[in-house]
Amino acid sequence: MQRVTILGATGSIGVSTLDVLARHPDQYGVYALSAHSRVDELAVQCRQFRPARAVVGSAEAAARLRQLIADLPTEVAYGEQALCEIASSSDTDTVMAAIVGAAGLAPTLAAARAGKKVLLANKEALVMSGQLFMDAVREHKATLLPIDSEHNAIFQSLPAHYAREPEAAGVAKILLTASGGPFLKRAVGTLEQVTPEEACKHPNWAMGRKISVDSATMMNKGLEVIEAHWLFGAPADRIEVVIHPQSVIHSMVSYVDGSVLAQLGNPDMRTPIAHALAYPERIVSGVAQLDLTTMAALEFHAPDFQRFPCLALAFDALRAGGTAPALLNAANEVAVQAFLDRRIGFRDIDRVVRRVMDEEAHGAASSIEAVLAQDAQARLAAGRIVDGLART
Ligand code: NAD
Ligand code: MG
Repeated sequence: MQRVTILGATGSIGVSTLDVLARHPDQYGVYALSAHSRVDELAVQCRQFRPARAVVGSAEAAARLRQLIADLPTEVAYGEQALCEIASSSDTDTVMAAIVGAAGLAPTLAAARAGKKVLLANKEALVMSGQLFMDAVREHKATLLPIDSEHNAIFQSLPAHYAREPEAAGVAKILLTASGGPFLKRAVGTLEQVTPEEACKHPNWAMGRKISVDSATMMNKGLEVIEAHWLFGAPADRIEVVIHPQSVIHSMVSYVDGSVLAQLGNPDMRTPIAHALAYPERIVSGVAQLDLTTMAALEFHAPDFQRFPCLALAFDALRAGGTAPALLNAANEVAVQAFLDRRIGFRDIDRVVRRVMDEEAHGAASSIEAVLAQDAQARLAAGRIVDGLART
């Protein structure tokens, strides 16, 4: 019996994870669930999955949850320390890291330091902490399995026991596919007028709002390039982004002998979630089998860096190294939230990120404290730029 903690249980990935777990009650139990503010939804989940512990974002939310599930034995707590506890407890084996953004870093790192099987959806945590996170995984013998569909596909297309050395494994390139999001074909001149509703309407995937906006700017793909760098030990020039609007091929690995291995499937996150939960076995995920005969043509083309400046900014941050990716990520989180709050326009997102990258110095990612200090500094700078843009 694997005992699973889900950080971010009420989100899109959290709900999909519970859907998979519910299909295999004999193999998986839920140890703990967390949510930030959606207490009512968490209460329903607690009723169904009966976790030993539940963690929310504030004292008020905790009080409300305690009332809602007073008849259950679930222990309720709140705050970052409690998140770190449920991620590292000796009562859990597997941690699904599905909090969105930098808020997930501390508990995800706590899971790695406790040597857990870490299922990583929270790409921002790895983008921020890069080498430090990978070092913690190695030192504490944690198992890191990617949930991001692209990285899960790459993981499946690499040899077993791949040791983060592309050259040694004969890997020529990692081909990261990207749908291109909702604005792949929209006239570039009209992108200034995009609304949050339009940006969140992804053609192939139903996801949380932050990652949906990231998909529309293609910052998501940029963060995924950095994520692939750390997960697979590939330098920036061995990672190629390929636009593939149908999202059927979830990514590929190109080998020196000319072979290209790919993982295909219907676009449903329950496939990578089930893969990582059961790895190296396979379990039913609830996703329909792919029917190739009903499929329209599969298209591939190169990304347009002019249309999607965020993708170029992410490559720049990866090449700059140190805390530059943390700077990029924090500026992006602030800008995306300001866009969702209708304070700035869609194209202002890349302007804010670029200005923060240009104006703020980055340093060595020598410790988690240094990374968090860079994150805080970038948030202040981005906030000032957003205020300026919002006034004009
Ligand atoms: P979501 O917005 O649907 O859910 C986010 C979850 O995080 C919620 O449970 C929320 O309660 C929690 N949360 C939010 N802010 C928090 C905070 N400050 N402290 C603690 N918890 C907080 O997001 P999602 O789409 O499920 O994405 C989660 C992560 O998975 C993101 O990092 C995203 O990039 C990644 N991811 C998502 C998908 C997808 O299909 N949704 C695919 C690949 C990767
Ligand atoms: Mg992805």
